[in-house]
Amino acid sequence: MSFKHVALLGLGLIASSISLALKRNGSEIKITGFSRSKETRHRANKIGFCEVFESIKDCVSGADLIILCVPVGAMADTMSVAAPYLSKGAIVTDVGSVKAHIIREINPRIPKGVSFVPAHPIAGTENSGPEAGFASLFDGRWCILTPTSETSIYATLKVKDFWQSLGATVQEMDADHHDLVLSVTSHAPHLIAFTMVGVADEFAQVTKSEVINYSAAGFRDFTRLAASDPIMWRDIFVNNKDAALEILGRFTEELFRLQSAIRRKDGEFLQKYFERTRELRRNIIEAGQDTSEPNFGRKS
Ligand code: NAP
Repeated sequence: MSFKHVALLGLGLIASSISLALKRNGSEIKITGFSRSKETRHRANKIGFCEVFESIKDCVSGADLIILCVPVGAMADTMSVAAPYLSKGAIVTDVGSVKAHIIREINPRIPKGVSFVPAHPIAGTENSGPEAGFASLFDGRWCILTPTSETSIYATLKVKDFWQSLGATVQEMDADHHDLVLSVTSHAPHLIAFTMVGVADEFAQVTKSEVINYSAAGFRDFTRLAASDPIMWRDIFVNNKDAALEILGRFTEELFRLQSAIRRKDGEFLQKYFERTRELRRNIIEAGQDTSEPNFGRKS
């Protein structure tokens, strides 16, 4: 590990997982952390995955890697507060789920002599907070770096090395392309889950909670996604509007095609469609991105 002191700004699921993964490696690296609320600082302190500070200034002082682990909408303000206290030669990176917006916001706030490497680990759960983290979160998962033409190649290589040491496989990508791809694979599925659970919630009032009591695996999978952190998801949609609307437009068109096939009782169309989607699931399993066990290996 080529870094000596990592500073985590934000102490939730992603920050605590980074710290636990570093410690799992037996690394001697110094890890400091900051969270805006006393309560989260107290909880992080109790777990003991890093040295917790009450100010951003003390947290980043002397750090050679600073990782922004706050919601996308809070990155810019956090960066502004940290900027005056960064050491020359330090590298700033982030874990935000959208990239083009973050690059626009963070680049102008980076002081002279400091580099910024935008990054997004494609790993997470529906749980938040410091207790939600675990050391193996990034094992075998992708971490996408979206350096621009201004990004230092040296800093990019160091951040790449950092994520590989946490178990991730690193890929570089253009930021706009990242935002479109993630809209398909993550953002739109979450929005559909939020919508479906919202529909069920309204329906629940009519069926006197039957949708909850008799919830089948399909609906339970939606509820898992729909339980994700509301602030994180608010910020993702507000700050990746164009890509989200593009994918939702395509989703709506597909939904109408399926709706029409159902109305026409076009079984052949539906079967072919579902065979194609089943194939995609197979490809994800073959790529090692999910388990092949029924019901994701859950007991019930
Ligand atoms: P989390 O568990 O909810 O933790 C959020 C942290 O950010 C907490 O320390 C919280 O501080 C702080 N925070 C919240 N609002 C803030 C604000 N307005 N100003 C300053 N600090 C604020 O979040 P997470 O899941 O680790 O996500 C962190 C980042 O990782 C996000 O940018 C997200 O897009 C990205 N990401 C998440 C996932 C995922 O599945 N969760 C996956 C990949 C990337 P307090 O608790 O003190 O309020």
